[in-house]
Amino acid sequence: MNMKIAANDPKRKSWVPIPDGSDFPIQNLPFGIFVNDGKPAHVGVAIGEYVMDLHALFRAGFLEEFDLTESMLENRFLNDLLHIGKKKMRALRDRISDLLLDSNESLQQHQEVYGSILIPMDQVEMLLPIQPGDYTDFYSSIVHATNVGSMFRPDNPLLPNWKHIPIGYHGRSSSMIVSGTSFHRPLGQTIVKDGDPPIFGPTKQLDFELEMGFITFDGKPLGQRISIEEADDYIFGMVIFNDWSARDIQRWEYVPLGPFLSKNFASSLSPWVVTLDALEPFRIAGEKQEPAVLPYLQYHGEKNLDINLQVFIKPDGSEAQLVSASNYKHMYWTMEQQLAHQTVNGCNVRAGDLYASGTISAPEATGFGSMLELAWRGTKPINMHDGTTRSFILDGDTVTIKAWSEKNGLRIGFGEVTAKVLPAIPFE
Ligand code: CA
Repeated sequence: MNMKIAANDPKRKSWVPIPDGSDFPIQNLPFGIFVNDGKPAHVGVAIGEYVMDLHALFRAGFLEEFDLTESMLENRFLNDLLHIGKKKMRALRDRISDLLLDSNESLQQHQEVYGSILIPMDQVEMLLPIQPGDYTDFYSSIVHATNVGSMFRPDNPLLPNWKHIPIGYHGRSSSMIVSGTSFHRPLGQTIVKDGDPPIFGPTKQLDFELEMGFITFDGKPLGQRISIEEADDYIFGMVIFNDWSARDIQRWEYVPLGPFLSKNFASSLSPWVVTLDALEPFRIAGEKQEPAVLPYLQYHGEKNLDINLQVFIKPDGSEAQLVSASNYKHMYWTMEQQLAHQTVNGCNVRAGDLYASGTISAPEATGFGSMLELAWRGTKPINMHDGTTRSFILDGDTVTIKAWSEKNGLRIGFGEVTAKVLPAIPFE
């Protein structure tokens, strides 16, 4: 897959104005689903401060020879489009890049159509980009796993399997929400004191989890595995992911089968899927893995990614405040290892599935990826600029995660994922 990707050429410039510091230069071209003016949902591509309507582009005759259909592009989700697979998606992104190139006049000259093809971003509503059939959440940051482990097992924070298996669990996809969607604080069973019976009520330990997720194309039939060398051919792109968690509910329920209602009440996704192709310039070497992993998980080359991550908390009526600065590069297990492991037993993946990284914590305490770690189980509350403190997330708080890669003046951004926490709905 090391062929040159035309759309990635850093010399390319678009005739669409790109503001300084934009997440969406011509080298990015992420895909999403938008609605505008009460019309049906369409597939769009972000460019500068505009959304390019791929359905309108297709109808204007600019996207022939890609085996596309109207129904793939006038669609509530990207899943149907993803059936065309990696090679055609790459060619499609190259074509869109060509049409936006400053030297290319074919679309620029069609003044009468490009008004309907390029829509100002502030006029559209972005929707959840995929309908995830399946959702896996990994646990692949060694700092996060060690932090959480050390809170509960100070002498033995990392369990014996951790450096051999990309640990994960199958999560719930029905409660995924797009950035900007508020949700109510969940209720559930918690334990006040070990040994006492549980009580029922709103969680007192609502937390965010700073994660990224990758989205797949169609995989292979059930029973066939995707090797680590093949993995990139099956990965479409990435989103920012906030795996909202209720720590007190989690603590009581997770033995013996893992997290359940503590994780499935809301999970926030950013609306733009940045293609793995657009992230190729930001590949870096992965963490050294010792002891050596089994052969099916061994890989060569630079498979990690340098993606800056920031988390902000905005208390109600106050300013947003940076509470964590991390980076995707702190992942111990790569996406390719995760996908190779997920399918090694013959498990099949489908177009639009979501595979989340697990909480990404940097080694420094200022880069931990959850309140559980930042405030260390409530023992080191964070001081907020408005004079309040936070051990966990309060009602009225808005949590925003931003992600972007940057190198040699090229910035490929994800935008953000944000959500406001509303008070619990009383139990009647
Ligand atoms: Ca998680």
